Amino acid sequence: MKKTIAVLLCALLLVAVPAQAQQEEATVIRAGALFDAVSGRLQQDMTIVVRAGRITEVGRDIAVPEGARVIDLSDATVLPGLIDLHTHLMSSHTRLGAHRGEFLFQYPERAVLLGSVHARQTLMAGFTTVRDVGAPGSSALALRDAIAEGIVTGPRIIAGIGLGTTGSHCDRTTGLRPGTGDFDAFRRYVFDGPDEARAAVRRAVRDGADVIKICATAGVLSMTDEIGPTQMTVAELEAVVETATMLNRRVVAHAHGLEGIRNAVRAGVHTIDHVSVLDDSVLREMRQRGTFIVPTMMAFTEVMKRIDDLPPGPARKADAIRPLVRESHRRAFRTNVQVAFGTDAGVAEHGKNAEEFGLMVDAGLTPVRALLSATRVAADALGRLDDLGTIEVGKRADIIAVPGNPLDDIRVMERVNFVMKDGHVYRD
Ligand SMILES: [Zn+2]
Repeated sequence: MKKTIAVLLCALLLVAVPAQAQQEEATVIRAGALFDAVSGRLQQDMTIVVRAGRITEVGRDIAVPEGARVIDLSDATVLPGLIDLHTHLMSSHTRLGAHRGEFLFQYPERAVLLGSVHARQTLMAGFTTVRDVGAPGSSALALRDAIAEGIVTGPRIIAGIGLGTTGSHCDRTTGLRPGTGDFDAFRRYVFDGPDEARAAVRRAVRDGADVIKICATAGVLSMTDEIGPTQMTVAELEAVVETATMLNRRVVAHAHGLEGIRNAVRAGVHTIDHVSVLDDSVLREMRQRGTFIVPTMMAFTEVMKRIDDLPPGPARKADAIRPLVRESHRRAFRTNVQVAFGTDAGVAEHGKNAEEFGLMVDAGLTPVRALLSATRVAADALGRLDDLGTIEVGKRADIIAVPGNPLDDIRVMERVNFVMKDGHVYRD
């Protein structure tokens, strides 16, 4: 008899436990309005069901599964988790005026600690995925893995390693006294010529890079290079793209000057970031090839705000490029080129990433395109549209909410008050 009861109990448990677990796992979000990043429209009174970190149902007349946790966002607008394609989590905007060589004085481990603070701020602002495009040593890779393992709270990180030619914006010793900083670690991702470019891409992928970042032109904050010139030959750019593509990695180019941007587009670079100087013909080529631009308007705003703190070289470059940038971005927004979202947080302030939306809309981008830039279009630029960027069945449950209607007032995006990543609620 005892044995029979035991067997019966076991049988009951076998049936009951999985069903109960499934019920407990279900989380239901009641959305007053939902931004549909497929159609670009707002849909009223929608329900989203989440199980095991994924979206399992989305619709209007969905019954709440028994035992499900219900999150009431009926007075809010719900959107896909935001994506920032240009961050430097290990850098701080408060150090913008510091000499770029200050990394010589700091313990590399400090960078990851700083990054973990910025990562939390970024997630709480509604950014559930970021692409990090330049950090000291292996810090971005370490932080990426620690967040994925749940050790540290932060967004999903797509970690880039930055490659550049000798003396370029991506060469960390640019502007230092000759011989200073001639360590293997600093030369690791510096190359000259197509063959070395291929080796550098392979080394970056071996070291753990998810994406390859290159400096196609000079930068504002590097010391001795000029802002306009290209810093890679066409052959080097093509070698980078060919090798990265072979290894299933995308390429992101830092580029300010027109010629460098044009060369990068023709070489097949996937996203071009900053894009300070654009003309109609390069925008036409971008549209034909499906190239994404990432304007990083916040970076320029922050640099201009702090121009008096900058060393003379960077200050002069910032001043020279100022009138061109705004006109170029306005010109781009008048076309249907694919605009993807990036802030250059690290140059700009972490956790304030959503201020980019207001800058984009002020420069003529429609609110719908601004929202798409940080959702579906950004996921597409990453090659992660199967997983991220929209609220659809099967995708990761990265879901945020804002009070009010961002299509009426884009600045409500700066007041994110609900954040879910992979089905876990981080802010409510
Ligand atoms: Zn940057």
